Amino acid sequence: MRFSSEKNKGLLIVISGPSGAGKGTICKELLKNRDYWLSVSATTRSPRKGEIDEKSYYFLTKEEFETKLSENDFLEYAEVYGNYYGTPKSKVIEKLETGKDVILEIDIQGALKVKENYPEGIFIFILPPSMEELKNRIIKRGSETSESLMTRFKSAYKEINYVSKYNYAVVNDEVELAVTKIESIIITEKCSVERFEQNILSKEGLIHEQLND
Ligand code: 5GP
Repeated sequence: MRFSSEKNKGLLIVISGPSGAGKGTICKELLKNRDYWLSVSATTRSPRKGEIDEKSYYFLTKEEFETKLSENDFLEYAEVYGNYYGTPKSKVIEKLETGKDVILEIDIQGALKVKENYPEGIFIFILPPSMEELKNRIIKRGSETSESLMTRFKSAYKEINYVSKYNYAVVNDEVELAVTKIESIIITEKCSVERFEQNILSKEGLIHEQLND
């Protein structure tokens, strides 16, 4: 009986939290060190300076997005600050099935929808070091009008309360440290007895009843 298997399903790692918490920077750093697959979302918002279609996002018109929605092409979607954002479904499922660990960088509404359908995912809430710092980060990004800045900031205040729905909370005061914490969470989860049972013992036909005999 082998206890290691290359055929295990990949982990679905959901990195979420309020706008400005630093999810994007954390995900970029995570990808530098390890072989995760980052899902590219679709959105109806306009590209920001430096963003590349199909790399940063799939930039779609509202009509294109709604067509995909009607074809059930999204794992989850949400309307965030007046624009649609969604996770293309088929690629994510395919990667997980082939054993790749998949990262979703999505907002809180989307993360909670994924949790309903895929509770075995790992749900990580990224917090800013303080609300003042969150505001500074959104201002520094320079891409928001003062109106959209206030909208993002106000909703961030409400969103912090959703941390209780997640498995882990990581404060992003230093990116490198936050990334180390997330990598540790992923390793811990891979060693959990529950996942071990799902991946190995169930395949090998070794079930609890036998252990209790
Ligand atoms: P931004 O416009 O700043 O790129 O993203 C706005 C928010 O939408 C961020 O919180 C980002 O994480 C979230 N977001 C990006 N892609 C998706 C997605 O596919 N689904 C959901 N629900 N949120 C997303």
